[in-house]
Amino acid sequence: MPAEPTLVPLVGTPDVDVVVVGAGPAGATAALRLAGRGLDVALIERAETPGAKNLSGGVLYLDALVRAVGEAWREAPLERVVTRNVTTLLTSDASVSLDYGDQTLASSGTGGAPNAATVLRARLDPWLAGQAEAAGAFLMPGMLVESLALAEDPAVPGGRRVVGVVAGGQVMRARAVVLADGVNSFLARGAGLRPTPRPHQLAVGVKAVLGLDPALVEARFGVPEGEGAAHALVGDATLGVAGGAFLYTNQDSLSLGVVLRLDALTESGRSAREVFGHVLTHPGLQRYVADAEVLEYGSHLVAEGGIGMVGTVAWPGCVVVGDAAGLTLNSGLVLRGMDLAITSGLVAGDVVADAVAAEDPARVLAYQAALSASPAYRDLATHAGMTGLLRAPRTVRAVGRGRARRAPFDVPHRRRRRGPAAGLAAPGAAVAEPTRVARRRAPDLEVGVTSGTEPEATRGPALNVLLGSTAFDAATPHIDTSAMDPRSPETQAVIAVCPASVYRVARSRTTGEEYVAADEAGCLECGACLVVSSGGLRWEYPASGGVRFRQG
Ligand SMILES: Cc1cc2nc3c(=O)[nH]c(=O)nc-3n(C[C@H](O)[C@H](O)[C@H](O)COP(=O)(O)OP(=O)(O)OC[C@H]3O[C@@H](n4cnc5c(N)ncnc54)[C@H](O)[C@@H]3O)c2cc1C
Ligand code: SF4
Repeated sequence: MPAEPTLVPLVGTPDVDVVVVGAGPAGATAALRLAGRGLDVALIERAETPGAKNLSGGVLYLDALVRAVGEAWREAPLERVVTRNVTTLLTSDASVSLDYGDQTLASSGTGGAPNAATVLRARLDPWLAGQAEAAGAFLMPGMLVESLALAEDPAVPGGRRVVGVVAGGQVMRARAVVLADGVNSFLARGAGLRPTPRPHQLAVGVKAVLGLDPALVEARFGVPEGEGAAHALVGDATLGVAGGAFLYTNQDSLSLGVVLRLDALTESGRSAREVFGHVLTHPGLQRYVADAEVLEYGSHLVAEGGIGMVGTVAWPGCVVVGDAAGLTLNSGLVLRGMDLAITSGLVAGDVVADAVAAEDPARVLAYQAALSASPAYRDLATHAGMTGLLRAPRTVRAVGRGRARRAPFDVPHRRRRRGPAAGLAAPGAAVAEPTRVARRRAPDLEVGVTSGTEPEATRGPALNVLLGSTAFDAATPHIDTSAMDPRSPETQAVIAVCPASVYRVARSRTTGEEYVAADEAGCLECGACLVVSSGGLRWEYPASGGVRFRQG
């Protein structure tokens, strides 16, 4: 839930020059730049280790990283250099691909770096935070920032400024705060600095990392050692729900996932879990993923609002970077957020360092213009029209199997349908005719459906198998469903978007009344349920423990 700000007196000695909240790519880069400019920086991260709460599809466009760390990019934990970009259009039983292989991509980036490489966040984020530490930043992991500390200051525009943060019940004062707390960004919203994003501005990403021998990765994707492929999957991949899917190669694993816009998902009558199971067992993908072992299942929100979501990103004493500022670019085939996060961290680092040197908290307002002039913002502006295009019903219908009965393109090699997909379809798993699933709408809620018990037609490994691959530490309570009406559209929406089937409608043995139950232990902490809730659900990050991604 958005965190109410804490009002504190204006006068007080700063504990540090700058507090950076969040050690993802945006925060770690801002801390790196600020520490490099000689400032005293605290980099606060709620996960016990940077990256342990983070997940992305995994293609990092390297230009921003090279600008941030220079030659040290050579030591970055990159999985595979992307030299093959493939766009695949899927129907239920056939596929056609546009395959662009280009060896020059291995060295065509800034300073001879590759254009792009795949990454896993559990490895990239600690490394980037380590760069910030090496520059002098003080990393404080395992600490949840609870709210922003504000003070009345008639000398600044608006009469209030951010003077620090509250963590562990203590105020930590700073000359400036950089908010890099990711797509949910409860701190800025709680302080009234940023609006609450609407479901059409956010998508839920559901991803599995699938272990596969490196030799098999190379043989199946047609790449030499060290190089890899990025497949963008459209059409039947998302069962007609607006969004997309991806399949990327890592060193000894694959990243396979779907990105589903929350408004479209709740309107579709499908569930996130169902769409993910569909792509995981899709016949058109089995030649890549067969016999791969699920190493981790996870979920995270994606900012989808494009440039229209960015808005105001600077206030006296505080700037917002990365996903927290809505800086994600979805062109339909390419999803970029990590490099935009790094770029915004660099820009913010320079502006904030200047403001601290000038002892002028209002000077951080210059970040708004500096960000607008950055390559990250220019790319967002170039793709400004994509958000509307991706939302247009005709676009969705054109590629969506749920609504269009005929393939929208000619399929040159139509394969005969061959029963249940091998590989990732668990033994005995139901592989039902998906159009029947399409008609199964949420209003028919089953009373007493428990987490881990799924609709018969959900394909692929059972949820307890998927969640069993993910690490969870005992979490402090963080979900309250007591105000939810079990028969409301809100409950239907919350159940549909949750990729971990945390919510279920149960009946009390004593009173016989229905209620909404939540199995907190399997929560992947994506926050999708809160976005589609109309106010009955109370959900916040656990103060400690919870999911711990080992791949990301
Ligand atoms: C399924 C999926 C696929 C994606 N694919 C790609 C891709 O291929 N390429 C690409 O470039 N981008 C991709 N993205 C987007 C990319 O992951 C994000 O844009 C990027 O991670 C944003 O970085 P960030 O530092 O702004 O936020 P995050 O990486 O989310 O980091 C925020 C950090 O803040 C911490 N935090 C949050 N609140 C608090 C608090 N109150 N106190 C302390 N710490 C806090 C979090 O634990 C986290 O470490 C994808 C995203 C998803 C979900
Ligand atoms: S309960 Fe909410 S935050 Fe947790 S996995 Fe489900 S949708 Fe995501």
